[in-house]
Amino acid sequence: MSTAIVKQQQIRGGEWLIRESETADTFIPENFSEEQRMVKDMCASFLDSEVLPLMDRIEELEPGLMPSLLLKAGEQGLLGASIPENLGGLGKDFVTSTLVNEGLGGGFSFSVALAAHTGIGTLPILYFGTEAQKTKYIPKLATGEWKASYGLTEPNSGSDALSAKTTATLSRDGKFYLLNGQKCWITNGGFADVYTVFAKVDGEKFTAFILEKNFAGFTRGQEEHKMGIKGSSTVQLYFQDCPVPVENVLGEIGRGHIIAFNILNIGRLKLGAAALGAGKRIAGVAIDYANTREQFKTMISAFGAIRNKIAEMAVQIWVAESALYRVSDWIERWKAALTEEGKPFNEAALGAAEEYAIECAMLKVFGSEMLDYVVDEAVQIHGGNGFSDEYSVSRSYRDSRINRIFEGTNEINRLLIVDMVLKRAAKGRLDILSHAKSVAGELVSIPDFGEAEGGLFDPERKTVRQFKKAILMTAGAAVQKLAATLESEQEILMHIADMATVTFHAESALLRVVKLAELKDEKNIGFELDIMRTYLYDAADQLNKSGKDAINAFAEGDEQRMLLLGLKRFTKINPFNSKEAKRRIAGKLIAADKYPL
Ligand SMILES: Cc1cc2nc3c(=O)[nH]c(=O)nc-3n(C[C@H](O)[C@H](O)[C@H](O)COP(=O)(O)OP(=O)(O)OC[C@H]3O[C@@H](n4cnc5c(N)ncnc54)[C@H](O)[C@@H]3O)c2cc1C
Repeated sequence: MSTAIVKQQQIRGGEWLIRESETADTFIPENFSEEQRMVKDMCASFLDSEVLPLMDRIEELEPGLMPSLLLKAGEQGLLGASIPENLGGLGKDFVTSTLVNEGLGGGFSFSVALAAHTGIGTLPILYFGTEAQKTKYIPKLATGEWKASYGLTEPNSGSDALSAKTTATLSRDGKFYLLNGQKCWITNGGFADVYTVFAKVDGEKFTAFILEKNFAGFTRGQEEHKMGIKGSSTVQLYFQDCPVPVENVLGEIGRGHIIAFNILNIGRLKLGAAALGAGKRIAGVAIDYANTREQFKTMISAFGAIRNKIAEMAVQIWVAESALYRVSDWIERWKAALTEEGKPFNEAALGAAEEYAIECAMLKVFGSEMLDYVVDEAVQIHGGNGFSDEYSVSRSYRDSRINRIFEGTNEINRLLIVDMVLKRAAKGRLDILSHAKSVAGELVSIPDFGEAEGGLFDPERKTVRQFKKAILMTAGAAVQKLAATLESEQEILMHIADMATVTFHAESALLRVVKLAELKDEKNIGFELDIMRTYLYDAADQLNKSGKDAINAFAEGDEQRMLLLGLKRFTKINPFNSKEAKRRIAGKLIAADKYPL
């Protein structure tokens, strides 16, 4: 098939909102290749043998320990999955590189150090570097001989990264840029060899530079005392007339924002992957504890209250996984199509991540909040012991919290989700408008009660279709009513982002089950069916609440009544005994004494 046809047929970023997805568009983890399974196992064994036994020493920031672990990971190829072979990497597909982040996610501080090195540390040079820059730095970063770090944030510019104050001034001889300023919260900052740093040329043109640790006028601050991920190095960076050779300008002068924002798309998806890996590990720890702790002469895993928590963890984790690999495969396929069109490696990789930037933001929000939920309930299952540092869940609880803050806070990501959809609609890239109009038309027509529901998953498919209508109706009405002022109505935007995120994850879970039913007998997918149906059932209420809060914030009178009625119709779901479903889900995991990695 020609690339033009592949691209035409493949679902575009945000398009799932207005187009029904099929199983052919959907990659599921059950379809991992033999090699991908091996990579997954390798990550698990690296974590079990090299990282987790050293967790106390890592937490104490033992000098040299984290760099040596990164080097070991490099020796096993775990730092170079997405780096081409000619630059010393393994040149693996995007799904495999996502698997590495997932597989090592349970290492928390280590996982953060690794993700900062392979992601924001390495990718700016890999994707925006000149041939000379790539040849000089990438092979050493791929093996872990050199460690990488990324300095964007400053004391007064975090979410508003472009308001950075660090300056870069060309030296009189034209050979150097002299950097002056300060960066803060820099992961791997205490030991990195190479830094991508952003500064404004002449105080105006936001630009990226490659710095080496030995450059004059460059100093690193003390390690921060943090709430969690204590084993991850986080320092401030200071530049005082720090001379950076002009050949170390990364990308174009004044185009640093392109680097900063594009790298974040991939970082967000990878953060979702690491959160997934961590969630699975912690759920396993909680299940194991529940299977050993007795109260009232009963194993606590036998109590419905505890089973409910275990099942809810499993639902969140499994749904996050379904969406993560669906998007990772989309990115890989889009990248392949761009490559076949003749785009160079970096443009294909960045173009594919940009295409699915909306989904990357959703994965970040969902994954980080899933993990916070899982660690919180894991502490609860441990009771008082969960509050003790002798148990690993206590550390995980603190370590998890950072995920909602970095790679763009979850508020910023929620705002971006809606902003990107609306911008693509305005540019004609996504035909949201006509679909929103047709849903609005449906509101004033006689409801369609009579859709035939004979197929195996017809009721669930209809539910997801209706969810999408709820979003289109709410967002469409908000845009029409508030027009340009919608941008300042952040509360409404947050609700719409939540509706979109829940719906995307619901659809991903549904398609995974439909695809599984094509592969296996229906009686062998009871666990997955229960998870998907439980999620859809809860999602209907979440959508209804978010939609109601949004509508009540901008509509009045007849319009309000009509929209609320529409919302009720679009979020209606058949009665479902979620208690029994959750008992079955938990029962399977408790019997296995783990969450399968
Ligand atoms: C442990 C750790 C490691 C980090 N590693 C790195 C790193 O390696 N490199 C790097 O460059 N940075 C790093 N950071 C910085 C991180 O990316 C920022 O902390 C983050 O982007 C938020 O910026 P901020 O802390 O200035 O918060 P602020 O931007 O001040 O935000 C404060 C609050 O206001 C909200 N807010 C801000 N703007 C808006 C808006 N427009 N609308 C609505 N709400 C808004 C935020 O969501 C947040 O809740 C790290 C931070 C930590 C804590």
